[in-house]
Amino acid sequence: MERSNVLIVGGSAAGVTAAVTARRFHPDAKITLLRKEEKVLIPCGIPYIYGTVGTPEKNLIPDAVLEKSGVEWVVDEVLSIDREATSVTTAGGGTYGYDRLILTTGSIPLIPPLPGADLENVFPIWKDVGFLQGMLDTLRDAHDVVVIGGGFIGVEFADECAKMGGLTVKVIEMLPHCLFLACDEPVCARAEAALQENGIELLMDRRAKAIVGNGKVTAVELLDGEKLEADVVILGIGVAPNVSLAQEAGLDVDVRAGIAVDDFMRTSDPSIFAAGDCAGRRCYFTGRPSPLRLASVACTEARIAAANLDTLRRRNPGAIGVFSTRVGNLALGSAGMTEKAAREAGLEVVTGEATAPDKHPGCMPETSDLAVKLVFQRENRVIVGGQVHGGASTGELVNFIGALIQQRATADEIATFQVGTHPALTASPIAYQIVNAAENALGEMTRS
Ligand SMILES: Cc1cc2nc3c(=O)[nH]c(=O)nc-3n(C[C@H](O)[C@H](O)[C@H](O)COP(=O)(O)OP(=O)(O)OC[C@H]3O[C@@H](n4cnc5c(N)ncnc54)[C@H](O)[C@@H]3O)c2cc1C
Repeated sequence: MERSNVLIVGGSAAGVTAAVTARRFHPDAKITLLRKEEKVLIPCGIPYIYGTVGTPEKNLIPDAVLEKSGVEWVVDEVLSIDREATSVTTAGGGTYGYDRLILTTGSIPLIPPLPGADLENVFPIWKDVGFLQGMLDTLRDAHDVVVIGGGFIGVEFADECAKMGGLTVKVIEMLPHCLFLACDEPVCARAEAALQENGIELLMDRRAKAIVGNGKVTAVELLDGEKLEADVVILGIGVAPNVSLAQEAGLDVDVRAGIAVDDFMRTSDPSIFAAGDCAGRRCYFTGRPSPLRLASVACTEARIAAANLDTLRRRNPGAIGVFSTRVGNLALGSAGMTEKAAREAGLEVVTGEATAPDKHPGCMPETSDLAVKLVFQRENRVIVGGQVHGGASTGELVNFIGALIQQRATADEIATFQVGTHPALTASPIAYQIVNAAENALGEMTRS
């Protein structure tokens, strides 16, 4: 039996990051990664296969990342863990021993309990090259696409399908707005306008009742009786943690929340860690279980797990939830709590907003207006959330807001933090949106 100091199951965002991080802390260790698939997709790039990149083959995590870190990898599915023998067995008949095991088995798409969900040309998003290529081939011959779910996955698929041309695209969402769990209403409304400008029809506050067809899908029936023609249905309603391996090994698992882990990413077995979509997580703000499933969170957890294999070096502060996306020409993103979520959680909050061109003067080439909204807790002026929409710098500004949240920055600190600005690259120092949004919130706090 081959034995590794560190054995990792799963080769996507969390698995690769865990392997590379483990190498940094353990230069001489034997590190092995076992993964089911020959080629691993960049999970967040999956929607962009359809209208932008053109093929799953151009959306792969390069194996060079593992090679450079001296990580061995084997393409094989792990079928069981023998915790007493500290080894795993694989579908290919192999047995691999470990000193430390990191489970990064990820998530699987949720299939709604709707009649007809198993019809041909109804596509949950499996992270599998062959499956996604089949979906691409089907879409190329299709006319009417219905996307069920208006979260970021549904919205990105709708936008990419519209870019393919020749398709009518409709999105069904049961909440009042697209992206409503991640953004406050005005930002959702901007995203919806951008989708509609691209010809996408939005059916908000509506529910699918059944997927209809005879072998192949032909329509989606809504609860109010309306029938939408469809020769392709895309399911974007979320994912469930892939916990069967951990569960069968007798680890503490909650099938909905994930594999139970402590703040150091240790499972109920001290030799076994878990990270990424398969692991349970708690919300940074409330400490309650968090349903967030993001690659960025997965990679952070993997960095924590892999640093703690022999000594506890890093602690998980909980998931803040930083995300961004793009619909049409509008980039938008959100970090931490929306104003709505903060109020629902019982926080008294004050918000500040600022909009300005993202370059200066505003007549510089490729300038867009960029709007920032920050959410602060009134009692201590600490930032708990922020949303940005506008041009391409949105993604990094949202990340920056995420860092401010993690550092528990106050409105006064943000209003006086030092920025570098340049006409071709940023807003002007006078109009710098994050600073001015904090100033505006401070004004509101002083007035009320
Ligand atoms: C369409 C789409 C778009 C997304 N966009 C974004 C985005 O823009 N930003 C963002 O932050 N997040 C995004 N996400 C979420 C992100 O994809 C996930 O959070 C991320 O993939 C989690 O990574 P992971 O490594 O934990 O799990 P996964 O990516 O699910 O990978 C799990 C891996 O484990 C392997 N595996 C499982 N069981 C076994 C076994 N028994 N033996 C061997 N191998 C096994 C799997 O084959 C796979 O390689 C998106 C998700 C989807 C579906």
